Amino acid sequence: MVLRFAPSPTGLLHVGNLRTAIINWLFSKKIKEEFLLRIDDTDTTRSKKEYIDLIEEDLKWIGIQWDLTYAQSERIEYYNDAFDFLKNEKLIYQCYETDEELSIKRARQRSAGLPPVYDRSSLNISKQKQANYESEGRESYWRLKLPDESIIWKDKIYGDIKFDTKSYSDPVIVRADGRYLYTITSVVDDIYSKISNIIRGSDHITNSGIQIYLFKVLGAKPPNFFHHSLMTDVHGDPLSKRIGSLSIKGIRDRGIEPEVLLNYLTFVGAATVQNKFHEINYLKQNFDISSFGRSNVPFDERLLNDLNSNFLQEQTYEFFNKKSIVFNFSSAPSEFWETVKNNIRVFREAQDWFEIIYGKIEPIIDDPEYINLALNLIPNEDFNEFSWRVWTDSIKEKSGRKGKNLFMPLRLSITGRNFGPEMAKLLPLIGKDKIISRLNGFVS
Ligand code: GLU
Repeated sequence: MVLRFAPSPTGLLHVGNLRTAIINWLFSKKIKEEFLLRIDDTDTTRSKKEYIDLIEEDLKWIGIQWDLTYAQSERIEYYNDAFDFLKNEKLIYQCYETDEELSIKRARQRSAGLPPVYDRSSLNISKQKQANYESEGRESYWRLKLPDESIIWKDKIYGDIKFDTKSYSDPVIVRADGRYLYTITSVVDDIYSKISNIIRGSDHITNSGIQIYLFKVLGAKPPNFFHHSLMTDVHGDPLSKRIGSLSIKGIRDRGIEPEVLLNYLTFVGAATVQNKFHEINYLKQNFDISSFGRSNVPFDERLLNDLNSNFLQEQTYEFFNKKSIVFNFSSAPSEFWETVKNNIRVFREAQDWFEIIYGKIEPIIDDPEYINLALNLIPNEDFNEFSWRVWTDSIKEKSGRKGKNLFMPLRLSITGRNFGPEMAKLLPLIGKDKIISRLNGFVS
């Protein structure tokens, strides 16, 4: 049996989409089933190859591996078979109304206080009228005839759900240009791939009602359905694929570590709050689908940024070595990483500190007299972790300065920055000669 993630490649994946992917993937590992990446690209006008590539890149980046993959565009013959079957069984019917005619009908229903449900006027259309429409060159499309009785199922998160078919229009399943709609293609594929559990956002609950009916008429047992709550932005508004900032690509480009996003998206909205970063194997073994609730989950970018800093602080020199290979500072010693890791929000910032420590900076000297005094008091011996204390104690004594007034001019002239790692740790790394040169105002 198999679980699946079925994105439509019509835009960038956002955090909500990736959360669905993670839940399905972790659950498949937990119950030892295969994981399918299915590309829902039947909407040929909006689907793009570049989005498929980016979806795959995003999934690999976060650590998701799939056992199987296919695209719906490769499987038209299977949809044709299902279509023929539904047609022979008279479970679908041909319609001729134009969009304009339908919207007039809906407006009339609304003004009469009726729900805007399709009136099925094409269902019992006479042969003559059909022939007239066809000779006029009207294009036809196909609707699934929903059953009269409600569709009832037990959702694994939402509990008992009753889909009242009378309040819905018969859904179009084949467009006038012959393209199939997701409602039917998804079910054909879910049957073909032996999908055991469908886990997706609660925005699909109506689709599920229709699809459960389709599973049944196509002779298959519907899988279990889990509708998880939706992720929103911080204001509670829905995420759209078009908001770049919450796209996975945007988050990757900003320098968030994959482990951080994986942990965040695994636990956000679950009952068990985690304040530790877990390895993928731990997540696979301990994933608990029953901890997901029904309330919407806001995506908190600030929290994600803080988690990223916390994560970096916990990382060893080994992590630094692996990661720094792609940057050009892989030669930095472990003292470098131990010094800077507490002061960076994203790994890339370590590179700035590499330049400050081992490269050249332009010192900022606002008060030359004070810096001169500091220069004269510089300790004789080579710098070690105690030198900063010894040095600033003597400057304090001579100048009478304390706190920020005492430290900041030194930090600015030695690092060119008004923030950063502890000066006591920076001094031995930068080295005495370079510090003297910077205090003298040289770019060094
Ligand atoms: N392609 C659909 C979507 O992206 C898949 C939904 C489903 O999981 O069935 O919303």
